[in-house]
Amino acid sequence: MAEISFNHIDKIFDGNVKAVSDFDLQINDKEFIVFVGPSGCGKSTTLRMVAGLEEITNGDLYIDSNRVNDVAPKDRDIAMVFQNYALYPHMNVYDNMAFGLKLRKFDKNDIEERVNNAANILGLNELLDRKPKALSGGQRQRVALGRAIVRNPKVFLMDEPLSNLDAKLRVQMRAEISKLHQRLQTTTIYVTHDQTEAMTMATRIVIMKDGLIQQVGKPKEVYDYPENMFVGGFIGSPAMNFLEGKLSDGKFYIGDMALTVPEGKLKSLEQYNNKELVLGIRPEDIHDEPVFIESTPDTSLEALIDVAELMGAESILYSKIGEQDFVARVDSRADVSGGQNIKLALDMNKVHFFDPDTELRIR
Ligand code: ATP
Repeated sequence: MAEISFNHIDKIFDGNVKAVSDFDLQINDKEFIVFVGPSGCGKSTTLRMVAGLEEITNGDLYIDSNRVNDVAPKDRDIAMVFQNYALYPHMNVYDNMAFGLKLRKFDKNDIEERVNNAANILGLNELLDRKPKALSGGQRQRVALGRAIVRNPKVFLMDEPLSNLDAKLRVQMRAEISKLHQRLQTTTIYVTHDQTEAMTMATRIVIMKDGLIQQVGKPKEVYDYPENMFVGGFIGSPAMNFLEGKLSDGKFYIGDMALTVPEGKLKSLEQYNNKELVLGIRPEDIHDEPVFIESTPDTSLEALIDVAELMGAESILYSKIGEQDFVARVDSRADVSGGQNIKLALDMNKVHFFDPDTELRIR
């Protein structure tokens, strides 16, 4: 059982670098929380404060009901998995996994049972005598995970554990870590800059930028209802489209093209009549089928194709609407190519509107 509470935590380095600001979050027992955001957003620093590797400048950190701000790392009952694995090169796999237990003076039989059990879970039984140098990247990462799980800690902390692996192995290890979490149910904080990892692994995602939490939610919530333009653009690939335009009497104008805004959406936009707005739409909510376009002529736009990427099952159409970039993900189309003009219809029930000054979603 482990809950983690961050109460208004700041981290200021060297008196002036504000790496994390007013971080306030409650993590529940058994959650797999992913901190995600671009380089420098403060996610590793936040994780390191939980590990006890960075001091907390302001605020309180609790693991269950214990305030741990001043508790030494070794007394926090957490285990951390790093990007570079941090294995001992001169020890074999067994000893790497057993090392932390020996330090903590676990009984020899207990150590053997725990290491063998972890080796079973992670498929390392055949490799226990090998040194790290004789292992593949994926196997090394498994040993690093093994070293964390033998201790059966209250909390796992993982800092970009997959970023040294090639793309295919990353996908495989992603699934393995998720399975491991389903099996062990240990409260986990996982740091990554990769939104796909965040979306596929997390029970809840914490999106950060410039040391500030931008949004916390389940993957589908943050995908469907981004709080602001940063979240909309960061989560999802290809990214959400943003089109600048003006709202006037129920229509959204981009240059001289007009889109009819559904009644239901107009209510929240009352104060924006005759004002500039930003429309956000995901690439998959744009349609190119003539039948769709003909039945809803007031929701389509003229686009000039830059590049059409035929991906097999689908095509990604990179285009321009006037001067603005616009990406659509449509069913496979071999007949579209650069330089062509086509009509694209927007599913207006799926669009969001953002205030261009605050960049917040209007709701
Ligand atoms: P990355 O994905 O690149 O690791 P991150 O989101 O994990 O980025 P942090 O490593 O937490 O970001 O860094 C947040 C900010 O704090 C950055 O501006 C960074 O330069 C600064 N920072 C981190 N560690 C220190 C330090 N020891 N001294 C001074 N500034 C630091």
